Amino acid sequence: MADELAAKRIAEFIAPLRVTPGSKVTLAKDFDPSYKADFVKKKDGLELLQRGVELMSEYQERLAAQDTYGLLVVLQAMDAAGKDGTIRHVMSGVNPQGVFVHSFKVPSAEEINHDYLWRYTRALPGRGEIAIFNRSHYEEVLVVRVHPENLARQRLPKEARGRDVWKLRYRDINDWERHLTDNGFRIVKLLLNLSAEEQRVRFLRRIDLPDHNWKFSSADARERTFWPAYQKAFSEMLSATSTEWAPWYVIPADHKWFARICASAVIANALIQIDPRYPTIAPEARKALKETKSELEAEAPKGAAPDPFAAEEAAKKADKKARKKAEKEQEKAAKAERKAAKADKKAAKADERATNAKKQAGREAGEEENAGATAEKEAGR
Ligand code: AMP
Ligand code: MG
Repeated sequence: MADELAAKRIAEFIAPLRVTPGSKVTLAKDFDPSYKADFVKKKDGLELLQRGVELMSEYQERLAAQDTYGLLVVLQAMDAAGKDGTIRHVMSGVNPQGVFVHSFKVPSAEEINHDYLWRYTRALPGRGEIAIFNRSHYEEVLVVRVHPENLARQRLPKEARGRDVWKLRYRDINDWERHLTDNGFRIVKLLLNLSAEEQRVRFLRRIDLPDHNWKFSSADARERTFWPAYQKAFSEMLSATSTEWAPWYVIPADHKWFARICASAVIANALIQIDPRYPTIAPEARKALKETKSELEAEAPKGAAPDPFAAEEAAKKADKKARKKAEKEQEKAAKAERKAAKADKKAAKADERATNAKKQAGREAGEEENAGATAEKEAGR
């Protein structure tokens, strides 16, 4: 039940970030890079992120155990939007054995010698695995579109070039993603949406802090001059490739802490929807396990518990129960204390009001008496 509630909260939290399939997006108009949900403060953020990481850790284990579904997380963004940091934070709790990160750079000679989806296909997750694409096949309709010399390098045949090349690529990508989804590989697509001003500040930070110089290249600043072209390419990409099977989520990226919460929530949501289960074993296999258990228990040396693990688990369970009870009582006592303090404060206020009223009445009575005396005096004169 608690899980269902958490799932519902997460789904509601990420709903405004989802790009409705079929909608026409203008990134700058439709998504605010500095958005943060009203109810989330930075200090609550850490707790939320921790919760997200725990959730992911649990679901990743189940995903691996079930060995049927895989998850692909696609990260796209302008430079300095926080892709690396998001990966670091979001994946901080998961088992590295089941997660792979692939960063896609300028294609190598071997890569360029194949169709443009080849290198991305080779990096896909297997069943039970999570893969994160740090940049992805979407570069093929972003950087390649903004800088046409990249397309020229690809040595496409005439029928794959022409005016419709981007339309063709959107179609290819949607079909490819649908095929993957139908075969058990779910795709989560995140665009970290940074404002030009926040990028400017982050670039300056990289220049001003010597330890951060390595993250900056003058090429990044040059790329920044293509901002409007990228915004346009992003908008068209979102409009054409947000599908029912693999919708885009636009993550407001001007506040890093909020971006990380959003990213982990979208990934957690996908895992919850996959709902991977630990495989259950057949009744005969369970019977065999029971028999083996009895045999192992019978082998216990003198004085040893037949099943020390079961004993330990029982003790842990009892301990947890006692701790929960104590916590509940503590909370109850604190609540009562708060209530009493509130009542005290209220009583003190009432007292103060009564005293003030009395004082005021006294003053008014005094004034009246004075006035009476003056009048009498005047009448006597
Ligand atoms: P970084 O992510 O900062 O290490 O930079 C990787 C660089 O590779 C970026 O400038 C990307 O634009 C570039 N890149 C990634 N994929 C492609 C591609 N398919 N064609 C051309 N350039 C690419
Ligand atoms: Mg770079």
